[in-house]
Order: sequence, then structure tokens, then C-alpha cells
Amino acid sequence: MDFRIGFGEDAHRLEMGRPLVIGGVEVESEHGAAAHSDGDVLLHALSDALLSSLALGDIGFYFPPSNPDFKNLDSADIVRRVLALLREHGPLAISNIAIVVTLDRPKLGPYRERIQRNVASLLSVEAHNVGIGFKTSEGLAEMHIQARATVLLRTAS
Ligand code: C5P
Ligand code: MG
Repeated sequence: MDFRIGFGEDAHRLEMGRPLVIGGVEVESEHGAAAHSDGDVLLHALSDALLSSLALGDIGFYFPPSNPDFKNLDSADIVRRVLALLREHGPLAISNIAIVVTLDRPKLGPYRERIQRNVASLLSVEAHNVGIGFKTSEGLAEMHIQARATVLLRTAS
């Protein structure tokens, strides 16, 4: 057995009046990610972490937003397609995932369990294998959201 680590990140500007979607969960907020897609930084960072674990590049390579087919692709679909890509390289066993979302407002603590359960179900892992932390930027980047994700895979070889 071998282990593979993956790391990914994503960031967006925040704009007033946009929906805020984090890990597939809509969060009540006066602002949300300025993006063509749902702007789900958590699922985008997670997708890049999964791809990087097998050195397969990043989501911009597979799903370029310049391609109209991908422009409004649901972020959960991106994760599902990334998992399918990984499975082409052998059986997939995710050991655990660790994610940090940096956002000043609103507080995300009340959403942690819902996000954790949603991400776990997307990846077909148990919730205790999905760790999610939240940080503020301490006012350094008030209209900004960022997510970082690491993943550990077990591989057969
Ligand atoms: O970044 P900071 O150390 O100030 O975060 C303090 C606490 O606020 C942490 O426990 C974190 O989980 C929580 N937090 C949150 N929602 C955010 C940012 C931080 O619940 N958007
Ligand atoms: Mg702090």
C-alpha cells in the first residue's frame, strides 16, 4: 500500500447580493462569490486537491470556464467528474480530507456539520474523515473568500 497527499486552493472576490455556497451548502449572507459558476471555493479547492494527489493537474485544465459546456457546471458535478478521473488510475480509497475556509463574515460555525456531511456524502466517506476549519482574515480581506484543502489517498501499489 502507498499513500498520496493532495493539496488545492481557491479564492473569489465577494460581491453584495450574490449567493454564498460553501461545500454545496447555501449560507445566509449579504454577499457571495463573484463567479460565473456557483463560486463554491471549498468544492473547487477539494477538486484540485484530489487531482493533485495523483499529479493530474487542476480543474481549470479539465473544465476550462472558457468552454461554454463547463461555464455553469455545478461544483458537485466537478467533484464527481474528478473522482471518476481518479478512478481511471486505480481503485480509489480516500483516507481523510482536511479543509480550511477563510472568510470574515458571516460566521460559518453553525454550518460546519451540514458542510461536513455534504462533503462526506459527495466523496462516499464517513463524516469523521472530513475535517473543516474556519478562519477570519482579521479584516485584512473582508470581501474575499478562500478555501484550502488537503487529501490523503491510499493506493493499491
Ligand atoms: O480566524 P479567527 O481565529 O478569528 O477565528 C475565530 C473562530 O471563529 C474560530 O473558532 C472559527 O471556527 C470561527 N469562524 C467562523 N466563521 C468564520 C470565521 C471564523 O465560525 N467565517
Ligand atoms: Mg485568529
